[in-house]
Amino acid sequence: MSRVVVLGGAESGVGAAVLAKVKGFDVFLSDKGQIKEQYVETLKKWDIPYEEGRHSEELILNADEVVKSPGIPGTVPMVQKIREKGIRVVSEIEFASRYDAAKKICITGSNGKTTTTSLIYYLLKNAGLNVGLGGNIGQSYAYQVATEHFDYYVLEISSFQLDDIYDFRPDIAIITNITPDHLDRYDHKMENYVAAKFNITRNLRPDDCFIFDSDDDITIGHLSNIVLRCKMLPFSQEKEVEQGAFVRDDKIVLRYDKEETDIFLEELALGGKHNIYNSMAAALAAKVTGIDNAVIRNSLATFQPIEHRLEPVLSIKDVLYINDSKATNVDSAWYALECQKRPVVWIVGGTDKGNDYSVLNDLVREKVKAIVCLGVDNAKIHAAFEGMVGEITDALSAEEAVQKASKLAKEGDVVLLSPCCASFDLFKNYEDRGEQFKAAVRNL
Ligand code: ADP
Repeated sequence: MSRVVVLGGAESGVGAAVLAKVKGFDVFLSDKGQIKEQYVETLKKWDIPYEEGRHSEELILNADEVVKSPGIPGTVPMVQKIREKGIRVVSEIEFASRYDAAKKICITGSNGKTTTTSLIYYLLKNAGLNVGLGGNIGQSYAYQVATEHFDYYVLEISSFQLDDIYDFRPDIAIITNITPDHLDRYDHKMENYVAAKFNITRNLRPDDCFIFDSDDDITIGHLSNIVLRCKMLPFSQEKEVEQGAFVRDDKIVLRYDKEETDIFLEELALGGKHNIYNSMAAALAAKVTGIDNAVIRNSLATFQPIEHRLEPVLSIKDVLYINDSKATNVDSAWYALECQKRPVVWIVGGTDKGNDYSVLNDLVREKVKAIVCLGVDNAKIHAAFEGMVGEITDALSAEEAVQKASKLAKEGDVVLLSPCCASFDLFKNYEDRGEQFKAAVRNL
């Protein structure tokens, strides 16, 4: 019996271990840290041997294949030893896809992954298809392959999950856009990050589709250096495309298979320029899947905003509070500000990832009346925007930030939490930050 060792005991690793078990391998899971209670329970339930707090070489280096969780960088000593011994290292999605004949729509990119993935899932569900949702959202792909039978999967895939793939092949691959993020995992080289994202296209065949943002210079630049033998479906808000999606006269036009369909922009449930991109990508994926135009229109019009992504919380004395806690980089905050039609009191800050705030200057001058910095070290934000807005003040908790913002806001304004930064200085994660923000708003 061949031996599969899984490194990492969270969602992805435990899913891979369960699948390996179901497929009859001799499985072992190893995590250098503590494994969360819920995952320990799953491992016990499936009778999977595991260790935590260490990597025991004698139990790992006898593997025939290693499945590495995306959270573990390829540079850690254990992974290097595994490779030196000539043992193949694969990612969870590579491993799982060997046992899955479903059609796969896979979404990666710097921003908009979760929104686009959820939109596509909603579209396929509304069309009555037997579809699973997974990857970086919800349950791991591997766990679902082990326990479910879907005809389609819609998978959100981070660049880390694309690191160790060989034969993994989506039927439809989508790159929403590419802007600098997580460069620390890529030797601070943009080309490595871009190449990692483009891994999603490496096995595409002539009948498969690649859906991409043709307004995105980085995507287009990389495409000019590679050859893809598949159907190319760009989406753009700047120009008409031969096949794909574009904007004309306040409508999205879908042009596919010699047919044109249009959808009024004002009917889209999700507001903002960025969501026009996300809606175009999702509509194209639906079109390629053969979904009815009426279902596509109706779904894009009725989709509910996802938590922590430009999520309207409450309107109090005609001040609208919006939770965009998931905006953890400059580009996503740019889109959040761009779509605001009312004066903004902007809550921003957290763990800075080497941000260059200057790209926001025009929008801040135009839309922002006051800034509340929510972070331990706010010096960079003060330096970037001092003099540009009426007032800049500081807060050390979501509650204090909401209190201060509510005093700065007047009837007709928006209080927008769109932090541009990671949350780890004051919060557990972006969800925790968003929850605390919403709780503070409800307490006003
Ligand atoms: P991801 O899963 O890639 O992190 P999300 O769909 O969760 O992306 O959106 C995260 C944030 O990024 C949103 O709150 C929004 O402000 C911004 N955003 C969403 N879609 C886009 C897009 N297509 N381009 C730029 N920013 C976007």
